[in-house]
Amino acid sequence: MKKLILDYKTENICCYLCGSTESDYFLTAEDDLTGMPGRFIFVRCRSCGLIYQNPRLSIDEVKRFYTDDYIAHRKNEKLGPLSPLYSWAMGKHDRDKIKLIEPYVRLNSDSCVLDVGCSVGTFLLLLKKTYHCSIVGVDFKDTTYYPGFNEIDFHLGLFYEQKLPAYSYDLITMWHFLEHDYRPRESLQKAQECLKDKGILIIEVPRLDSLTYKLYGSRWPGVQSPQHTVLYSKKHLLEIVKKEGFDLVDYLAYGAFPAYFYLFAGAAFKMLKGKGLTLKKAILPYFTGQLFLAPFLLFEKYLNLSMQTVILKKV
Ligand SMILES: [Zn+2]
Repeated sequence: MKKLILDYKTENICCYLCGSTESDYFLTAEDDLTGMPGRFIFVRCRSCGLIYQNPRLSIDEVKRFYTDDYIAHRKNEKLGPLSPLYSWAMGKHDRDKIKLIEPYVRLNSDSCVLDVGCSVGTFLLLLKKTYHCSIVGVDFKDTTYYPGFNEIDFHLGLFYEQKLPAYSYDLITMWHFLEHDYRPRESLQKAQECLKDKGILIIEVPRLDSLTYKLYGSRWPGVQSPQHTVLYSKKHLLEIVKKEGFDLVDYLAYGAFPAYFYLFAGAAFKMLKGKGLTLKKAILPYFTGQLFLAPFLLFEKYLNLSMQTVILKKV
């Protein structure tokens, strides 16, 4: 039997967007990815409608859930003959991030890029290799033992607490960071402060009002509790960035993260009922399914499957 959330040190919070303390129950979720114990509650703000986890774990408690099994922190594990396929998929994810940013920002050797929630750092390293730009990373988990970290100006800790120079970055990226953040509005203010004038901020998060959420409900991979603090719909993502004074350059109903992952993982989570997804067992069905759905996935950008991205400019 899984432990109840009461076994963890929790805190009651007010709405991240409007500050209201009034809310109604929305859903209960588990850590479907790693299978760690606990049941976590999301509520809907009565005032603005934002969906957020409440109560939430204290920061020290939630850190325990960012194990090396957590997807963003995985290394190329020993997956036998499928290792190269896994490496290719992880490399493709970084290449797709670059493809996504290319239309919006021109980078060169004078540019400086900050990746918030940089995890294992492979995206920053690819940026440097491609554009010869300076690369800076922030993460609350120490990942400096990963290869290449000596090339990254790395800052360990919470983004909103960092002492970073103002007016310094041409581009700040937040790939699947904001939905984990304990103070998203402060992080957005920090990004405002640190960007050069007309600098670009790119934020990708799961999209609550998407097809995969409709399919999977509380087993939707975007719920990913207790790590995800807020489940953003398009409306609420646009509202929170607007509150911090960014200009919207573009909104995309997709991201660099493969929408198919949510389609696959949600189906697996439904079957596993909180037992956790073992990468080694999942990898073959994952790629087989991807092959099978390839014609459908050609149109993933138009199907509002799982992700969303906003491209913002500092005014
Ligand atoms: Zn609210």
